[in-house]
Amino acid sequence: MQIYNTLTKKLEEFVPIEEGKITMYVCGPTVYNLIHIGNARPMIVFDTFRRYMTYRGYEVNYVSNFTDVDDKIIKAANEEGVDASEISERYIAECRKDMEALNVLPATTHPRATEEIPEMISMINTLIEKGYAYKVPDGTVYYRTRRFEGYGKLSGKNIDDLESGHRSESHALKVSGTEGKEDELDFVLWKPKKEGEPFWESPWCEGRPGWHIECSCMSKKYLGDTIDIHAGGEDLIFPHHENEIAQSEAANGVPFARYWMHNGFLNIDNQKMSKSLGNFFTVRDISKKYDLQVLRFFMLSAQYRSPLNFSDSLMESAKAGLERIKNAVSNLSDIEKNAEVSELTDSEKDFLKEASGYETKFDEAMDHDLNTADAVSAIFELVKFANTTAKENVSSAYASELKKLILKLGDVMGLILEDKEEVLDEEVERLIEERQQARKNKDFARADEIRDQLAGMGIQLKDTREGVKWSRI
Ligand code: AMP
Ligand code: ZN
Repeated sequence: MQIYNTLTKKLEEFVPIEEGKITMYVCGPTVYNLIHIGNARPMIVFDTFRRYMTYRGYEVNYVSNFTDVDDKIIKAANEEGVDASEISERYIAECRKDMEALNVLPATTHPRATEEIPEMISMINTLIEKGYAYKVPDGTVYYRTRRFEGYGKLSGKNIDDLESGHRSESHALKVSGTEGKEDELDFVLWKPKKEGEPFWESPWCEGRPGWHIECSCMSKKYLGDTIDIHAGGEDLIFPHHENEIAQSEAANGVPFARYWMHNGFLNIDNQKMSKSLGNFFTVRDISKKYDLQVLRFFMLSAQYRSPLNFSDSLMESAKAGLERIKNAVSNLSDIEKNAEVSELTDSEKDFLKEASGYETKFDEAMDHDLNTADAVSAIFELVKFANTTAKENVSSAYASELKKLILKLGDVMGLILEDKEEVLDEEVERLIEERQQARKNKDFARADEIRDQLAGMGIQLKDTREGVKWSRI
C-alpha cells in the first residue's frame, strides 16, 4: 500500500509499527451544529481507508474525537440560553446519526475533550517542566514555539516567514491582555475562564484547554506515543497538526505520527465549503433529496486528495452510477433464484477467473494512495462484465459468485448495494415457532439452522424466561 505522506511530501510504502496492526487518529468535528457535507468528506474517505485495510487483514485501532468545548459551542449555548454541554451532547448525537446514515463505522474510541482534562493538564505540566511552555500573569499557558526545532516540518513553513505574517497582529495581541507572551508565534495550551464559560480547575487558573492539546493527549492515551497514521482535512495541516506535533514530540520525546494523510476540500463553485462562508449544505439537507449512499458514492468518485466540487449534476451522475451497480446486483439475485442449472459450467469457471481480474484492478487502485476513483471504475467494469456474461442460461452458482464479488468490493467502500427485503413479522413468528418445535424434538441442528437463517434476515433472537423475544438488528 502506498500512501502520500504530507510529512515527507511523497508517496511512501506503508509499513506499520507493529505487523498486522494499524493505529490511526482522525481529527473529528467541533460539535455546535449539524455537520456539513465538507465535514463528511474526511469521515467517508478515512472510513473507507479503514475498511480497505481491514479487508487487507489489518487490525485497525481507529480513534476520532469530538471537540466538545470551544468558543463556537459556548456562543451557541449562550444564544439558546442553555449549558454548553447540552449543545455538544445534542450535536454529538446528531453527528452519530449522520455517520450511521452514511455507513461510516463508529470509531474504536470516540473520546471527547471534556472527558480528557486531567490528561491535558498532565501533558501541559510536562511541557512546562521541559521548558516548552510557560504561564503568564493572567493564568494563560503558552507553548514556546521557537523552542521546538522541527516547527514547520509538516506544513513546510519557515518559522521566520511565520513571524513576519504575525507581525500585523501583534498590536492586537498586546491590547487583548496577553501580557507576558514572549513571542507572537506562541500558541495557547490553557486559558483562563471568562464569565459564563465552562471551566476546570488547573495548577494555573480556572479555565479550559486550547484546541490543539486535546488531540495530542487523546492520541497518546488511546494509541500510544508514536502512531501509524494521523489524518484530517488539509485545512488542519497548519496550525492544528503542526502544533500537535510540537506538543507531542516535545512532551514524549519520540516521533508523533509516521504518516500524515490529508483530504482535499469539498468545494462549492470552487470555493471551500464552510460554515463561516455560509456556502454549505448539511448532511441532513442532502438526505432530504438523496439517499445518503449517493453522497458517499459521490465522495468516493474522486481520489481523496483532489479537490471535489459539489454540484447537482455530479450528484445526479453519482445517483445514476450507483443505480447501475445496484441493478446489476438485483439482476444477479433474480438469476440466482430462478436459474434452472445450479452448478458452475467450465466456461463459467473461466469467466469467474476473468472477473477476479477486476478485483485485482480494484485492489491496485486502492493500494495506490486509496485511489477510489479508479477503484470505482474497476467496479463499473465488473458490472459491465456481469451484465454481458450473466444472461438467462447461466447457472445460479455463477450469478451468485459474481454477485458476491460485487457486494464484497462495494462493502470495502461502505456501499450498501442490495436493498434489504422487508421481512414480515408473520414470517419471523412462523420460523420461531418452527425452531421451538425443533428444540422440543431435540433437533438442535435444525434449531440452530433457523437461528442462523433469521440472523441472515436481520433478526436477532433472545431466549428469556418469558419465552423467545426477537428484534431487528
Ligand atoms: P471542523 O469541525 O471544522 O474542525 O472540521 C472537521 C473536519 O472536517 C476536519 O477534518 C476538517 O478538515 C474537515 N473539513 C471541514 N470543511 C471541509 C471541506 N469543505 N472539505 C473537506 N474537509 C473539510
Ligand atoms: Zn486534531
